[in-house]
Amino acid sequence: MNGGSTNETESHRALSAVERRIADACLACGRDPGSVRLLAVSKTFGAERVLEMAACGQLAFGENYVSEALAKIESCSKDWTGPRLEWHFIGPVQSNKTRPIAGHFDWVHSVDREKIGRRLSDARAELATSETAPLNVCIEVNVSDEPTKHGCAISEVPALADTLAALPMLRLRGLMAIPAPTEDMSAQRASFEKLRHCQEALVERGHSLDTLSMGMSADLEAAIAEGATIVRVGTALFGKR
Ligand SMILES: *Cc1c(COP(=O)(O)O)cnc(C)c1O
Repeated sequence: MNGGSTNETESHRALSAVERRIADACLACGRDPGSVRLLAVSKTFGAERVLEMAACGQLAFGENYVSEALAKIESCSKDWTGPRLEWHFIGPVQSNKTRPIAGHFDWVHSVDREKIGRRLSDARAELATSETAPLNVCIEVNVSDEPTKHGCAISEVPALADTLAALPMLRLRGLMAIPAPTEDMSAQRASFEKLRHCQEALVERGHSLDTLSMGMSADLEAAIAEGATIVRVGTALFGKR
């Protein structure tokens, strides 16, 4: 893991710069800046860096790797006395990891098949106390149609959404995508537009959804222009991995 020498001033500066980018992008397309949430992607960075960000008021964090995340979540919970931190799992979900994910995360953005959804719901039910809320989930959609990528094919999204929405301990919130990287903003927008259309089709089908998880350090402006409600930002907040 990267070291923890960055001080809080630097975290504050990076956070303010990203918040400014979000606000400017919203302004440019006539959206309320409050309609876009920032998820700080802290993978490969240690608990000290997470807590520096948290001290600046950023409370939602995204993680990709289960064992790294569990150690970090535990360490943060020991050392943090502020408002509750929210943890989002955004990496590929292996079926043998559904139990710890269901037990330690508030959200999973990367559900791409029925089996994973069922296992997450079952595990959440087993671990549940009276206060346990359903796990918030998004379907990860392969909008770039890359054969090696994770994510559900667009054509299979409606059936998967119907299945996930019926599982008792999941709450289907919307869709997530990681398009093939490109510097061309109109190409970025075209991918994000596909995800938005996919979500609009689900809403017409009767699903009540409020989340489009799209946009990262390099393309958050394009994502916001196409309706992102959560942008997942790592590099621009924490630096190079
Ligand atoms: C790493 C990662 C991010 C953050 O990417 P940056 O380019 O560092 O902002 C966002 N989403 C997912 C799914 C990731 O794996």
